[in-house]
Amino acid sequence: MLKHLIFSPGSEYSIKRGYLWLKPDSDNVPWYPLMLNKWIVPKHSFLCWLVARERLLTQDRLVKMTVIQENVCYLCGLQEENHHHLFFECIYSKKCIQLVAEWCKVDLPRTGCIHWWVNWRHSSACRKKIIALILACSMYQIWHARNMCRIEGYVLRPERMGMSIKQESIRRLKQL
Ligand SMILES: [Zn+2]
Repeated sequence: MLKHLIFSPGSEYSIKRGYLWLKPDSDNVPWYPLMLNKWIVPKHSFLCWLVARERLLTQDRLVKMTVIQENVCYLCGLQEENHHHLFFECIYSKKCIQLVAEWCKVDLPRTGCIHWWVNWRHSSACRKKIIALILACSMYQIWHARNMCRIEGYVLRPERMGMSIKQESIRRLKQL
């Protein structure tokens, strides 16, 4: 609807309209505002923005575009791939997030609700920023692992992924 208002012939473009169109709807993507902090690696922030707007070329989108016919998650091979599945429901991604949560000493509920984790009530503002940084790094690495699997045909064990996320997060924290 808003997209239509911005780009339809005769409608007047404004920076505010453009911004609103680009900005993910926080009601639908409750975790996204926490990703808007300067501690996060810019390429990780950009990936989170694409996830929030569901703009990555996931298999469900490629099927709709008739680029491919079949949709099976590269990481688990059990369900169809879409943004929500890939980052929040896939057993592979959940395992990676679980390992990272253990490292951060965060009690992740069985539901694995990422929203709950980021809004952890005992977290200080600083800790929330660090957790958001680590989560953004995790999402980036999950997308990278998914692409590696698509191209190279193999996927790293979640333990290796967890280690890689940990190393990259520490590297970033040392830069700050
Ligand atoms: Zn999966």
